[in-house]
Amino acid sequence: MSTWFDEDVTCPACGATIHARLAHGIHAARAPEVREQLFARTFHRITCTTCAATFTAQRPFIYTDTERRHWVQVAPAIERPRWPELETATGALYDRAFTGSPLALELREGMKLRLVFGLEELREKLVIWRANLDDAIIECLKAQLLAREPRLLHAKTIVVDAVTDGALELVVDGTERLAIAAPLVEQFHDDTRLPGHFPELFGGRYVSLFRLTGPRYRWAQPA
Ligand SMILES: [Zn+2]
Repeated sequence: MSTWFDEDVTCPACGATIHARLAHGIHAARAPEVREQLFARTFHRITCTTCAATFTAQRPFIYTDTERRHWVQVAPAIERPRWPELETATGALYDRAFTGSPLALELREGMKLRLVFGLEELREKLVIWRANLDDAIIECLKAQLLAREPRLLHAKTIVVDAVTDGALELVVDGTERLAIAAPLVEQFHDDTRLPGHFPELFGGRYVSLFRLTGPRYRWAQPA
């Protein structure tokens, strides 16, 4: 069952308080319209009742699709620097959700377990998986792109917007569009050496190039 709550959100344009129905948990197998809304970027899209501005409400939630075997914790984008801590928490949360019954064990099998930051990154994973591509390999392709174009090292976000005939369409920092040709995407998917070259991108819950390019994280030491 998907869970929804009425919450007050603040309009970023005029500061008005708006009453909105937001998800705390989504079960996409039972609510296929949500998956479509994510692709269309209309999920959690709010129109301000005072000034008519539209914006996307950011709140943490868990996206589950038992049919396609997706289990994604969506954290607010602003919390990205805390990813090592949140990655551990994601694993623990997942273990709690799928412990106990034989059915739970069956559901665990082959589940893609991920931590993402913001709706755009959730959408990116769904776009990649819909095209039967591997999100860790896609991050390797982004790493190769950075090696070719070092100026992109300063980019805050590089996300897959679409996969068209096997080619990736990427958006850098929400504006610049770049493409990675289908033959290269295919070549990377056939390359069995990649997990050895980029072990950080394979096997974790946070499958993102940011693991390699982001600032070094330090665990807060208890005083
Ligand atoms: Zn407003």
